[in-house]
Amino acid sequence: MSQKFDVVVIGAGPGGYVAAIKAAQLGLSTACIEKYTDKEGKLALGGTCLNVGCIPSKALLDSSWKFHEAQDGFAIHGINHAGVTMDVPAMVGRKANIVKGLTSGVATLFKANGVTSIQGHGKLLAGKKIEITKPDGSVEVIEAENVILAPGSRPIDIPPAPVDNNVIVDSTGALEFQAVPKRLGVIGAGVIGLELGSVWSRLGAEVTVLEALDTFLLAADTAVSKEALKTLTKQGLDIKLGARVTGSKVNGEEVVVNYTDKDGEKTITFDKLIVAVGRRPVTTDLLAADSGVTLDERGYVHVDDHCATTVPGVYAIGDVVRGMMLAHKASEEGIMVVERIKGHKTQMNYDLIPSVIYTHPEIAWVGKNEQQLKAEGVEVNVGTFPFAASGRAMAANDTGGFVKVIADAKTDRVLGVHVIGPSAAELVQQGAIGMEFGTSAEDLGMMVFSHPTLSEALHEAALAVNGGAIHIANRKKR
Ligand code: FAD
Ligand code: AMP
Repeated sequence: MSQKFDVVVIGAGPGGYVAAIKAAQLGLSTACIEKYTDKEGKLALGGTCLNVGCIPSKALLDSSWKFHEAQDGFAIHGINHAGVTMDVPAMVGRKANIVKGLTSGVATLFKANGVTSIQGHGKLLAGKKIEITKPDGSVEVIEAENVILAPGSRPIDIPPAPVDNNVIVDSTGALEFQAVPKRLGVIGAGVIGLELGSVWSRLGAEVTVLEALDTFLLAADTAVSKEALKTLTKQGLDIKLGARVTGSKVNGEEVVVNYTDKDGEKTITFDKLIVAVGRRPVTTDLLAADSGVTLDERGYVHVDDHCATTVPGVYAIGDVVRGMMLAHKASEEGIMVVERIKGHKTQMNYDLIPSVIYTHPEIAWVGKNEQQLKAEGVEVNVGTFPFAASGRAMAANDTGGFVKVIADAKTDRVLGVHVIGPSAAELVQQGAIGMEFGTSAEDLGMMVFSHPTLSEALHEAALAVNGGAIHIANRKKR
């Protein structure tokens, strides 16, 4: 007889491992199957996020920002220094240590919560049976009352620029450069392209970003995307919009890239090229033909609003299902599914998932942007507060950007918070908390904010919605 669990999770990324821990906490016998191994060939839990995504990219963003500040940002504080140098292998090594600490932390959490960790490739068979192919090639079948599919996503390849893991790399390869490329190309001005382009630009690479669309950061509020384009360009990123890559040829240690823009065909040569054109769901060998689980037309596992698939007792979460490809979205879906398995009526508020781009300044938003609301015919009041008027931002010499609060003109309910500037990710989260509880701009304006903080910019932007900001001249009169 095969072993049977209450819950079996396939994939130990932020969707899968969080779901597994939650299930065990709620008293369900739980196993989590994961196949990813690190460079030493050891099982590494944590998925894309911990191994090759959120965390390693932020480690390099933080290191490269410190280098940039040490070179160009200290003199204004009266700190004189000379001869700052960089050690890229040490920087990349620090990142690897952080990854190791976190992935082994997940293994410890599995043990502490009683999750059975199984190394291998999981495949869903009919009747909620799961076939596991172990690293030694042996095959085991286990059974589950409930299955959670959390296999995540992988980078999209495009035929004009096939990844060779030497000159042409994807996001994973771009976290592993051992030296700063002189000329770096990035295909795609999305979140990943801008973050990785920023890392290597701060360390001295000449970075060119080729983006097929004419519009920059389509999902952001237009005021934010305009400010972002201006600032990132000033920082040295050469962002070419309307530039579609059509081909490439690797010659030894460089690559000649062909692209078309409004003026016709062009070529440009790079020492490294990062392909960052998006990610696609991983479903290879995940579902037996008779598993009953269906995919949608774009290859995502088909689920309802509660992540239930077409088979009762089988769920799918994270990057493999519709919606934004974000770690926090994956984790919350995992929690929702497990609580629903336990009989709770847990729902997830998909309207309030914050988005963040960890460039400098950071870019973050939650809720709807002004152009979306206008298109929907919603009348809004907008309050904006620039960090240039924030005492805390001045003290830190980090005054770029602004906070923008958008509220319903009739009810004053906050419908969107958009930030470009220092600690934007943290500020937007404060907006998200308020919005979850239905805050009005007036409510935010009436709250007491510590002084001096960057958060005061949110306070002032909320006050500005109704013409009541104190530290800037209000456009709107009360
Ligand atoms: P994954 O994290 O992809 O995990 C899926 C796991 O399942 C993998 O470990 C895989 O090996 C395993 N697996 C797949 N199939 C099987 C199988 N059949 N059997 C066994 N195991 C299997 N998101 C953010 O929110 N913030 C960020 O700052 C951020 N930065 C990012 C930076 C980069 C460079 C990248 C690439 C991504 C970033 N993301 C970020 C996105 C984030 O990493 C993903 O949204 C998140 O990891 C998705 O979680 P998941 O659990 O759905 O899948
Ligand atoms: P994201 O989906 O946010 O990761 O962003 C990926 C970006 O890559 C999108 O803005 C696409 O328009 C862009 N892109 C996709 N294919 C190409 C291409 N061949 N040349 C240039 N940009 C591309």
